[in-house]
Amino acid sequence: MKNILFIAPPAGGKGTQSDLLVEKFGYIHISTGDLLREVDKTSELGLKVNELISTGQFVPDDIVLALLKDKLLTLSENDAFILDGYPRNIAQAGELDKLLPSLGKNLDLVIELDVPYDTLLKRAVGRVSCPNCKATFNTFFKPTKVTGICDKCGSELTHRSDDNEETFKTRYDTYLEKTHPLIEYYKSQGKLVSIDGINNTYESLVSVIKND
Ligand code: AMP
Repeated sequence: MKNILFIAPPAGGKGTQSDLLVEKFGYIHISTGDLLREVDKTSELGLKVNELISTGQFVPDDIVLALLKDKLLTLSENDAFILDGYPRNIAQAGELDKLLPSLGKNLDLVIELDVPYDTLLKRAVGRVSCPNCKATFNTFFKPTKVTGICDKCGSELTHRSDDNEETFKTRYDTYLEKTHPLIEYYKSQGKLVSIDGINNTYESLVSVIKND
């Protein structure tokens, strides 16, 4: 199976599409956002990370790289992975180009999810998830039967601290400035495929993964 990297703006659907591909093909999903959110929030590192995430700022490259490396080291030889949220700038892409071969791995396919700004904003501001069963909902696009309560398991839903309009704008501007240049970077490596991130996204993804 091909090792995949998703590039998309915040709330572009990287996590959702990754979950579907994990279920269908057995990929290992590596989200640096998830790895960072899992750092113990009472530790010095956790406090720093939490503050940066909540205000929509990048976590320093060396911290993210160390977490990513630890995660990649847990993979076995035959595991195929989806990278979601790393790299987020050209320097991180350079680090990844060195890290993967050093672990006997490589990146086969880079998929850009194309989603317009207004949809992204609604996806972010309306996004809620279940801390218990991990189900995700959206108050605009996929509301729950009872507001704030998980349809699947009845737990109280949570909303990410960085999914408010103000922080979203910061994250989006940072995406355009720092992350979007990666499109050209991977185009020149011949690895990039762009997909409509709104219509038939999953179907397009599956055909790209199978045919490429
Ligand atoms: P995500 O879940 O991908 O939206 O990431 C949430 C937040 O985690 C981002 O807004 C950043 O603050 C931080 N983050 C995730 N991945 C990276 C990365 N590769 N470099 C720097 N910060 C990151």
